[in-house]
Amino acid sequence: MTARIIDGRAIAAVIRAECADRTRRFEERTGIRPGLAVILVGHDPASAVYVRNKVRACEAAGIHSFTHRLHEKVENEELLNLITRLNADPSVHGILVQLPLPAHIDMARILETIAPSKDVDGFHLYNVGALVTGNTVFSPCTPYGVVKLLEHEGIPVEGQNVVVVGASNIVGKPMALMLMARDATVAICHAKARDLAQFTIGADILVVAAGVPGLITAPMVKKGAVVIDVGINRLEDGKIVGDVDFAGVSRRASHITPVPGGVGPMTVTMLLVNTIESAERFYAAQRTAS
Ligand code: NAD
Repeated sequence: MTARIIDGRAIAAVIRAECADRTRRFEERTGIRPGLAVILVGHDPASAVYVRNKVRACEAAGIHSFTHRLHEKVENEELLNLITRLNADPSVHGILVQLPLPAHIDMARILETIAPSKDVDGFHLYNVGALVTGNTVFSPCTPYGVVKLLEHEGIPVEGQNVVVVGASNIVGKPMALMLMARDATVAICHAKARDLAQFTIGADILVVAAGVPGLITAPMVKKGAVVIDVGINRLEDGKIVGDVDFAGVSRRASHITPVPGGVGPMTVTMLLVNTIESAERFYAAQRTAS
């Protein structure tokens, strides 16, 4: 068996084109252009690249982006004040604080200050709780991207045995919740899991987000499984790889995402979707209030 490669770039391009169309129609109808404020603290090169990609993707989709670059020694209060101003700014529909933040910044307090209605990353505790109870406000972008990949490929989730490897707040846990909400039976594994293969071998759908290159090898995967590799790891030679042994697992799986070109392009795409959604809700709420 040779797995079908899930082309995240192509699927992301389709959704981004839909976003551009949706933004144009919304602006024609309402005069409102969706706006995303991106806050970048410090000079982490990887964060700078992520922010640049987000800004470019916004421009291409007709979304207004506002980038706020703050010094790495910025005080908590200054950052909190900026977020409070953005919360009140009607031209801003989404607020994103690029992570990681410098160690002296109280990340939890920063994320809790973002208005839940503008929290397009879905990291605010309110939105996390809403995800748990199935009343999602904004789905976190990376797991949301995985759900969209599965949908686009016509892969059913209901009743499937899913194993998520990785239990972080931004990928593994919300991924498990989103698939559970779609009636999958979900197990989550983490770094302390004993005998990882015992779990992964039973998965109809295996989502891997551990940040460990080569973690998942062919004997750990059920024949015909769908394998989604969220990992992004830079090797010493500069090569970017995922967490899955792509060559070996491709011979057992029915579907597999490549790295790069799988989940990665979907993350920014879903940020666009969430921002447009937020602008549409803002407009609907304004009309209801008037
Ligand atoms: P994290 O370090 O916050 O969490 C990693 C999780 O994996 C933890 O729960 C840890 O317990 C688990 N883990 C680590 N080693 C393990 C092992 N040997 N066996 C089982 N579980 C193990 O990382 P994160 O932010 O969730 O990111 C995970 C990976 O996904 C990273 O490679 C990151 O670069 C990538 N990522 C990709 C995107 C994207 O857009 N494609 C977005 C976010 C993160």
